[in-house]
Amino acid sequence: MTSIAITDIGSLVTADSTLGDGALGIRANAAMIVVDGKVEWVGDNASAPDADRNVSVHGKTVIPGFVDSHAHLVFAGERGFEFEARMNGQQYSAGGIRTTVEATRAASDDVLRSNMARLVAEMHASGITTFESKSGYGLDVENESRSLRIAQQFTRETTFLGAHVVPSEFTGRADEYVSLVNGEMLRAAAPHAKWIDVFCDSGAFDVDQARAVLQAGIAAGLAPRIHANQLADIGAVALAVELDCASADHLSHLSEADVAALAGSNTVATLLPGAEFSTRSAYPDASRLLTAGATVAIATDCNPGSSYTTSLPFCIAVAVRDMGFSPEQALLAATRGGAAALRRTDIGALSLGMRADFAVLNAPSYIHLSFRPGVDLIDSTWVAGQNVYQR
Ligand SMILES: [Zn+2]
Repeated sequence: MTSIAITDIGSLVTADSTLGDGALGIRANAAMIVVDGKVEWVGDNASAPDADRNVSVHGKTVIPGFVDSHAHLVFAGERGFEFEARMNGQQYSAGGIRTTVEATRAASDDVLRSNMARLVAEMHASGITTFESKSGYGLDVENESRSLRIAQQFTRETTFLGAHVVPSEFTGRADEYVSLVNGEMLRAAAPHAKWIDVFCDSGAFDVDQARAVLQAGIAAGLAPRIHANQLADIGAVALAVELDCASADHLSHLSEADVAALAGSNTVATLLPGAEFSTRSAYPDASRLLTAGATVAIATDCNPGSSYTTSLPFCIAVAVRDMGFSPEQALLAATRGGAAALRRTDIGALSLGMRADFAVLNAPSYIHLSFRPGVDLIDSTWVAGQNVYQR
């Protein structure tokens, strides 16, 4: 048994309202004891029990590690030119994904693995302690299962997204492609995945195709989540609720019925500020979802085309500035919300017994995450009591 005392915490944000003030459960002048990777004790710095090792954070702020519930980290290739074209006025469409598919199929395992390792290091440097990663740039049997095998080396939250777009060799034969996804591809992918996902949107897969994909995944033992209503409202949210998806993600176009359906369900509404930012699209209004009582998450959507950021602090700043979140709501969405979107109860807060995943902020309060946009405030990041990043 090894214990660590994190001491001299100026502001400890537990995200557990029973441990401190307000919804964020904040304590001033606090300490936290970690035993065998879990939170054992939280209280006043002056009364902290002894531990094997002491780490003073010298008055800085400690927050729960961010839970990034939506990312696409296995890919090769470069699409900066596409971003430039968009910023010059071209509209975003789902088709750019095919550019990455070509580069990913051509890349070696080593290249894919080292690309992902670089992004994971960036995530740790941005305070992320748990992240999901999808396949979806292989789009054939061999490359989808290969992508998941590589993702599995970095996270247990792996998602089979064979139904990302219809690959060019299946142009005009979408239903045939869906049959491949639900048959041979799923059989090869399922041993390496926890989740099944589908891009249900205009220009991607329609509701019937998406339902078939998710049901096939569920039958193979995977749990469903969905890309919904990014480009248009074609009924993906109703499908998400119908199938009890853990999360419906994007939600840039939401009807009142969609908001009510999400609020009355166990499906988390995951918003992806980086996607609207990078495609210069209108931001969804999170306050509609929050007021209705939906559980809301914020994630990076890190991918090589439409949201190439690993920075959750950046996403929080945009969410607060442009999506109707308060700083408090945004931090909850990036921690507890992300955990709910992954149906995890062991992460997302610094409650007693939870995994000791946290970030130390070089700031007097968590508010600085959105108050000081673009400034790197992450001093160190810890996963299960282990230091995975130190500035
Ligand atoms: Zn995505």
